[in-house]
Amino acid sequence: MNGKGIASVGSSSRANGVNSVGSVATRISANEPLSVAAALAGQRVLNTGTTGFIAKAVLEKLVRDVPGIASIVVLLRGSRAQPDAAQRFQAEVLRASGSGREITKVVVTRPGGEEETYRGSIVVVACGAINSAALLLRSGLANASGVVGQHYMCHINSAMLSISKEPNATRFQKTLGFNDYYYDSGDPEFPHPLGHIQMLAKSDRSILRGGAPRLVPGFALDYIAKHAVDFWLTTEDLPQPSNRVTLERDGTIRVSYGNKNLEPHRRLIRKLKNLLPHLGMHPHLVPNEIARDKRIPLEGVAHQCGTVRFGTDPRTSALDVNCKAHELDNLYVVDTSFFPSSSAVNPALTAMANALRVGDHLLERLDATTTTTPLEMPA
Ligand SMILES: Cc1cc2nc3c(=O)[nH]c(=O)nc-3n(C[C@H](O)[C@H](O)[C@H](O)COP(=O)(O)OP(=O)(O)OC[C@H]3O[C@@H](n4cnc5c(N)ncnc54)[C@H](O)[C@@H]3O)c2cc1C
Repeated sequence: MNGKGIASVGSSSRANGVNSVGSVATRISANEPLSVAAALAGQRVLNTGTTGFIAKAVLEKLVRDVPGIASIVVLLRGSRAQPDAAQRFQAEVLRASGSGREITKVVVTRPGGEEETYRGSIVVVACGAINSAALLLRSGLANASGVVGQHYMCHINSAMLSISKEPNATRFQKTLGFNDYYYDSGDPEFPHPLGHIQMLAKSDRSILRGGAPRLVPGFALDYIAKHAVDFWLTTEDLPQPSNRVTLERDGTIRVSYGNKNLEPHRRLIRKLKNLLPHLGMHPHLVPNEIARDKRIPLEGVAHQCGTVRFGTDPRTSALDVNCKAHELDNLYVVDTSFFPSSSAVNPALTAMANALRVGDHLLERLDATTTTTPLEMPA
């Protein structure tokens, strides 16, 4: 891209200001009970980022649970198995001008190995917190503070499953959550935040089969699936310089992470267990072998954030409050890398809100005006 354009690295839909999974225009009256199936019936849904896990899960759910949907438009980025896919590329390195104040080139490689160079008066990086840090480290840019790659956070999460005495017929249960222990445990001997508890997508037989021993009969899994109430518990991950993204000599990306702040998480789980009998559930959680009741392992990088933190002090942060690199005039990083702390709630809405905020700043900087154009979708 040339001239006044923006070169956007990383196909994060948030960064481009386009809502991701399931953009749908619909009106729901405040007096009607909220029903996803009713809201989507007859609608056309645009699904972007469909090669990603979340979009696939949403797509599967829509097809299965909302038969009345009019149509689903899927935007696909080619996979590595389709090297001719025109859209696929990997940003390798950013090159700065002689003064070091400006990115002059974005060098990308195509799956076949061909290199291409892109230019933009502004460069926006949104490759996700691990890959954005890696890109900056590879490029040797924006890191006078030394914080790039440091303070990797991913939340302290547990997926848990309890069994209700009554069948749980809910399909879309994930919208419910509570924050009674978010700021304070309520226990005088441990007056600290514990975190957030929300529902998790409903388990079904096939999900349970994945974690169950081979000999568990199908009818047992059906019973559990019918009565399962699924929870997702989140405790804040604290920013530690030693939890970090680094590059090996051969360019391999390494994520080093050590658990901290586990005590509040243990207490949060205990709080939930103690609540179960009051909620019409069996008092114990299902054993690990059959259902999920465990911490997400290191490779579960879903809530990755914090590796290119923003702040007001260039000595302790890589980005300023507009997510522009302190040291460069035209480099922005707008994915979850900018988080200086991780809170204890899911990150996507914060990332989207910030990307829109930075988008407004860029429009102002480019002296551009906004127009709203309705999205055209194929019939
Ligand atoms: C299974 C799962 C479930 C989740 N559930 C939730 C949830 O319920 N709620 C919630 O809030 N969050 C959830 N998340 C987290 C949420 O998806 C992320 O926080 C969010 O996607 C982060 O946005 P991002 O823009 O920082 O990065 P991403 O969405 O990861 O986008 C980065 C993009 O950059 C591309 N890229 C990477 N490197 C390069 C490169 N060198 N060159 C070019 N492109 C590159 C990647 O292919 C990707 O498309 C979930 C994540 C996962 C994996």
